[in-house]
Amino acid sequence: MSATILDGNRIAGEIRAEVAAEVKALSSAGIRPGLAVVLVGHNPASEIYVRGKVKSCEEVGIYSEKLTPVDSITTEELLELVEDLNRRDDIDGILVQLPLPAQVDAKKILMAVDPAKDVDGFHPVNVGFLSTQRPGLVPCTPAGIMEILKRSNIPLASQEAVVVGRSDIVGKPIAMLLINANATVTVCHSKTRDLPGVCRRADILVAAIGRAGMITPDFVKPGATVIDVGMNKVTERAEFDRLFAGNAKREETFRTKGSTLVGDVHPQVAAVAGAITPVPGGVGPLTIAMLMANTVRAAKLRRSQLLATNN
Ligand code: NDP
Repeated sequence: MSATILDGNRIAGEIRAEVAAEVKALSSAGIRPGLAVVLVGHNPASEIYVRGKVKSCEEVGIYSEKLTPVDSITTEELLELVEDLNRRDDIDGILVQLPLPAQVDAKKILMAVDPAKDVDGFHPVNVGFLSTQRPGLVPCTPAGIMEILKRSNIPLASQEAVVVGRSDIVGKPIAMLLINANATVTVCHSKTRDLPGVCRRADILVAAIGRAGMITPDFVKPGATVIDVGMNKVTERAEFDRLFAGNAKREETFRTKGSTLVGDVHPQVAAVAGAITPVPGGVGPLTIAMLMANTVRAAKLRRSQLLATNN
C-alpha cells in the first residue's frame, strides 16, 4: 500500500483562483484589498518570504506595500509605523515579518497591530476568537492545513487527531481548529510520555516539530492521514542516508545543492499512511495562499463592521 499524496500546490492554486475571483468581485464595489508587509533590516530568508508574499498579491490582484525600516529601528519607531498602518483605510492586512532585531520588543509590536488587520492571526484577540468560535482571523499555516483536509474529503468529526507540537503559530491553533471540527484532539510536545504510542492512536496525525524525519513508520497507524508541517534542511550525509537512502532524485539534489528539504515525517511513512502531505509541495504552498485569503477576509470583515456601525 502506498499513501495518497495530498497535493498542496494544486489546492493552493484552487484557493488563489478563488481569492482572485473575490478580489475581482470586490473591485466592482470599488474595494481593493490592501496588504502591508513590514520587513525590518536585511534577513536573507525573510527577504525571500516577503518577495513571495508580494508576488502572490500581484497575482491575485491585492494591493501590496512593502515597508523596509532600517535594522536599527527602535520599538517606539516601529510602533509608530504600525499605528500609521492601523489608521490607513487602504490597508486591510498588516504583516510584520519575524524575526525582528533583538532591540525591538516583538510582543509589543504584534500586540499593537489592529486585530481587524492581523492577517497572521497572532494577536490575542484573534486567538480568543478562534477558541470561542467567533469570526476572526486564523493563522495561515493551520488554516491551510484545514483546507487540505476539507478539500481532500478527509473526515474530521469523531476522528482521533494527534498534533505533535504546541507552538502558538502551528500546534495550538491547529489543535483548536480540529476541536472546532469535532475531532477528538491530543496535543503532544517534548515532555509527552510514549510519543509513538500516542501517535499510533491517530486517524489524523499532524507533525509540527521542527525535527527532520522524526515521525517514523512505527508512529503511524496503517491508513492514517499524516500532515507534515516541518521544513528542515538536511546537510549531513549520514542524516541524508537515514532519510533518503536509495532515492535517486533526492541524491541528485543533495549532490548538486549540498542540501535537501525534509519534513518532520520520515519518507518511509508513505508506505504506512493512507494519505500524506509531501515536503516540499504539501503544507508550505498553503501558507501564502491563506495569507491572500485572510487579506480578503479582513477587507470584508472590516467593512461589514463599518456598515454595521453605520446602521
Ligand atoms: P516550534 O519550535 O515553535 O515548536 C516545536 C514544537 O515541537 C514544540 O511544542 C516542542 O515541544 C515540540 N517538540 C520538539 N521536539 C520534540 C520531541 N522530540 N518530541 C515531541 N515534541 C517535540 O516550531 P513551529 O511550530 O514554529 O514549527 C514547527 C515546524 O513547522 C518547523 O519545522 C517549521 O519550520 C515548520 N513550519 C512550516 C510552515 C510552513 O509554512 N510549512 C510554517 C510554520 C512552521 P516543547 O513545547 O515541549 O518544546
